[in-house]
Amino acid sequence: MSRRLAQGFAPAAWGTPVVVALGANLGDRAATLRAAIDELRALPLTGDVQVAEPIASVAVKLDGPDAAAPQYLNTVAILRTRLAPTVLLDALHEIENRHGRVRVERWGDRTLDLDIIAYGEVTSADPDLTLPHPHAAARAFVLDPWLALDPDAVLPGSGRVDVLRAALRGEG
Ligand code: ADP
Ligand code: MG
Repeated sequence: MSRRLAQGFAPAAWGTPVVVALGANLGDRAATLRAAIDELRALPLTGDVQVAEPIASVAVKLDGPDAAAPQYLNTVAILRTRLAPTVLLDALHEIENRHGRVRVERWGDRTLDLDIIAYGEVTSADPDLTLPHPHAAARAFVLDPWLALDPDAVLPGSGRVDVLRAALRGEG
């Protein structure tokens, strides 16, 4: 088969692979996550959205885990997009806002939090969009659903996600 025909049957990967973390600890958390995932699937220039099973975790506040706060439901989506990183972040903030997210306290309780964990290999130190996400490597509630989707996942600049996860357990 000619190279051109073969490409037609197996198109080269398009766009940039992106990892998005979703978290909710107020309201009907599972319903909010499902709606947010539908909205991710509906984004323009975006597709191949894969989502892990949500997991529950204790809320982490600025001064540490807070067992008294409502628990989180977290998951991770892997997708491909042609939206630029800042355009994608704006779109994620719109999804958060549609679900009643009000920014009161940093790391405070919220109906929906959407973070870009990695946008391809892009690195950025901009506080408005830091890439990869600076706390991803230390968050089991990000690494676990990500590994469930992709056991060979790599966090750019930090290495294999399974190794990062083992280090969190003290096995590193
Ligand atoms: P947090 O997610 O830290 O609990 P917020 O969701 O309120 O808090 O985000 C605070 C700010 O973090 C946002 O205004 C956003 O511009 C910025 N930010 C920086 N890097 C990222 C990233 N990789 N993904 C999402 N937001 C980010
Ligand atoms: Mg956030």
